[in-house]
Amino acid sequence: MGKKRKSGGRSKGGKGSLSKVHCSSCGRLVPRDKAKRKTSYKQLVDFSIGKELRQQGTHIARIPYVRYYCVSCAIHRHHVKIRSEDERKDG
Ligand SMILES: [Zn+2]
Repeated sequence: MGKKRKSGGRSKGGKGSLSKVHCSSCGRLVPRDKAKRKTSYKQLVDFSIGKELRQQGTHIARIPYVRYYCVSCAIHRHHVKIRSEDERKDG
């Protein structure tokens, strides 16, 4: 049977099994290399106050929080797009 993707949709290469993470949306267990990673930043201060402080040249710390999504949720949320056959074969 032919392969849809050369990598099988993963980035582990010749490695064996990798640790799994829970999808942030549906809770599904996905291999860490297959899951789509999304980093957002949380601001500690209110947006309007933060804007004012930044104008004065203050450095405001932002807290990064990482979310992992399974392929189904990543497509549903438009984090990744569905590609045509000839577009995905070389990757
Ligand atoms: Zn999911």
